Amino acid sequence: MSLRKKLIAGNWKMNKTSPDALTLSKEIVAELGKVIDVEIVVCPPFTSIETVGKVVDGSSVKLGAQNMHPEASGAYTGEVSAPMLRALFATHVILGHSERRAYFGETDAFINKKVLAAIKNQLKPILCVGETLAERESGSTLKVVQTQLEGGLVGVSKDDAASVVIAYEPVWAIGTGKVATTEQAQEVHAFIRSLLAKIFGDAIAQKVRILYGGSMKPSNAPELLAQKDIDGGLIGGAALETRSFVDLVNAAIAAK
Ligand code: PEP
Repeated sequence: MSLRKKLIAGNWKMNKTSPDALTLSKEIVAELGKVIDVEIVVCPPFTSIETVGKVVDGSSVKLGAQNMHPEASGAYTGEVSAPMLRALFATHVILGHSERRAYFGETDAFINKKVLAAIKNQLKPILCVGETLAERESGSTLKVVQTQLEGGLVGVSKDDAASVVIAYEPVWAIGTGKVATTEQAQEVHAFIRSLLAKIFGDAIAQKVRILYGGSMKPSNAPELLAQKDIDGGLIGGAALETRSFVDLVNAAIAAK
């Protein structure tokens, strides 16, 4: 049994209108709203953060965002800040997702500013790292993950480090149906924990949750979640449907 509470986070990406988000979040709260053995976070699009926040209020399900800008306010058309998310009672924020890196040109330095701004505003960052298929095939997986992890965590204090969540998401496994083997995933998770130990010390590294993301679903979750350094999942496709999300949380409860 791990000292770390397992965490299942649903990344709804650019899916669900507000009415659809209302329905999905109501179903999730009805099924999982009293679960305390596993931490559950739902991350709807900005447009339904407030709606979903009202539904999860009073339950054990937590609210996250999928992105934010590092500045607190200002002339950044189309962006949303950490204080705005906090005002809607969000507790988590996904940062550095590979889709943001690939389609919106986000660099490690920019993601690092967001990580620091999230922490400053009492939001728990879910910092995503992971290699592309070309990077894996050229043998640079660990180098890429190290660069992204160290770059994303510059300036994070030891005191704050345990509240950061890391998500290892091999880009080639996201939304593709291709899952990293348990050995591939565990190898990178253990490597991430060893890097965290170098930066923050072993005691803190043992507290940080490292999630796996990439086509995780109820059928493959038990094996992944049984790995020593896999502390939960960041779930895309399977988080859009109540049944599969509930089954994933149940797999995490069984693996705890
Ligand atoms: C994700 O985008 O974070 C993700 C893991 O997606 P999927 O589960 O659909 O692969």
